[in-house]
Amino acid sequence: MEKTPFKAESQRLLDMMIHSIYSHKEIFLRELISNASDAIDKIYYKALTDDTLAFDKDNYYIQVMADKENRTLAVLDTGIGMTKEELEDNLGVIAQSGSLAFKRDNEVEDEHGIIGQFGVGFYSAFMVADVVTVITRALGSDTAYKWESAGVDGYTIEPVDKETVGTEIILKIKENTEDEHYDEYLDEYRLRSIIKKYSDFIRYPIKMEVTRQRPKEGSEDEFEEYREEETVNSMVPIWRKNKSELTDEDYEKFYMEKHYGFDKPLAHLHISVDGAVRYNAILYIPERAPFDYYTKEYEKGLELYSNGVLIMSKAPDLLPDYYSFVKGMVDSEDLSLNISREILQQDKQLKLIAKNIKNKITKELERLQKDDREKYETFYKVFGTQLKYGAYSDYGSNKEDLQDLLMFYSSKEKKLVTLAEYVSRMPEDQKYIYYASGETYDRIDKLPQTELVSEKGYEILYFIEDVDEFAIKMLMTYKEKEFRSVSSGDLGIDADDSKDESDGESENKALFDEMKSILGDKVKDVRVSKRLKNHPVCLTADGDITIEMEKVLRTMPN
Ligand code: ADP
Ligand code: MG
Repeated sequence: MEKTPFKAESQRLLDMMIHSIYSHKEIFLRELISNASDAIDKIYYKALTDDTLAFDKDNYYIQVMADKENRTLAVLDTGIGMTKEELEDNLGVIAQSGSLAFKRDNEVEDEHGIIGQFGVGFYSAFMVADVVTVITRALGSDTAYKWESAGVDGYTIEPVDKETVGTEIILKIKENTEDEHYDEYLDEYRLRSIIKKYSDFIRYPIKMEVTRQRPKEGSEDEFEEYREEETVNSMVPIWRKNKSELTDEDYEKFYMEKHYGFDKPLAHLHISVDGAVRYNAILYIPERAPFDYYTKEYEKGLELYSNGVLIMSKAPDLLPDYYSFVKGMVDSEDLSLNISREILQQDKQLKLIAKNIKNKITKELERLQKDDREKYETFYKVFGTQLKYGAYSDYGSNKEDLQDLLMFYSSKEKKLVTLAEYVSRMPEDQKYIYYASGETYDRIDKLPQTELVSEKGYEILYFIEDVDEFAIKMLMTYKEKEFRSVSSGDLGIDADDSKDESDGESENKALFDEMKSILGDKVKDVRVSKRLKNHPVCLTADGDITIEMEKVLRTMPN
């Protein structure tokens, strides 16, 4: 039979897939089971819109079968199957996702629980198998096909017999090597634990035949082995479970399985509200930002379920922009299933839920800041900028939420401090909350403008991000204390009596006039300063816009 070669890029990609994308070989099973679940979901979805199709849950399942003697592991599903074209498109082209296309073609982009989207999971099978065989019959088709490949050198497709609609994937498991024990993927107990670990919330039963022991009939101390089919996964969504039954690991597992992120979440929140609005939610604060987080491409949102059925995989209205890093899901009985996206956005319940969630996140962050400063700092280093943008962009309503979450580096403490901590340390005669802007903490340390304030014993907050100064300008005050830049013309610090303002003004007039004429428009005035101790000269600004802000503003497009 003639072999169809993979395209060159595909060969390279496949090689990468097999050797470097996944750090744990065991996830191949998660991927195959996800695909099987997607295939059943597709029939379920079709049945919703096609009266001639019935969806009887009992007929739909996934089965995992290990055969030690022949070294094969099979994953079977009663899902939608694939036509010959689909086999070529989906399994012959790497990074082509039939599931993504299905969601697009059926305009169900977000509705329903179809997991697949990247078009690479299937190939993870080659991490543990020498040969992968796919036998599949598509819904509505009489012909079945067999796709087979031993990896990078290509695949074959030929017609075969298959009684029922669905797909069977058969892996010829690799022989053990010195450092890899592929045998474990033929071991029932090992397989069961992998399924539990990754696929416990798959909504269709994952069946497996297991060997059990029972006392031999007529004997008290002899046992016999027998085979029995069992459903391995619990299928019950984690958010329906009681908090007390769940461990941190359960939440972490859920985070991973839902692909909320590739990191380990810093904190989680399990919310069950049963009042004017009823909902369950599991929310996570990630440890790391997604690679596109600070770009326009990043989409915020939570998964939204209605009564256990996913209706939107990213409901953006559930989160304010400044909490866009939060991942997780919300399930509410009070939303109706057939709701369209527009109606959802105006949904009163949804607004209530969003407000409720926002408050819970604020409380959780405040708690972290108070009880686990180290964790909070880890969080803040990654997402603090977003909080500051929040304070800046939506003046007024965000202030309450955000002002206490902000932290800045302190000249005195040499670490990040909150505004509350700053204010609590202010001596009575100190009028303002002082800050200094610069590129790095070191550079700010050396700024001549900081001298007078520091000498007075006042603490200075160091602003090294562009957004810092804009953010606090929007806050205007904290606990009725105004913010003041150390480069401001008026520092609100009483004049040093030993030095008269006019000291040196007249005798140096000629020098100042000369400097002014050289600098021209660049400066408004050249005068004697009282704020300097060790530096000969410094720049100060009059009015609201500081020198640092001007720099930022100048780089912005008009
Ligand atoms: P993804 O699941 O992200 O789309 P995969 O590489 O896992 O990527 O699978 C590629 C495509 O192959 C799927 O989108 C789907 O169209 C098809 N496919 C894989 N496994 C099955 C299956 N068991 N039944 C039907 N189609 C499948
Ligand atoms: Mg997949």
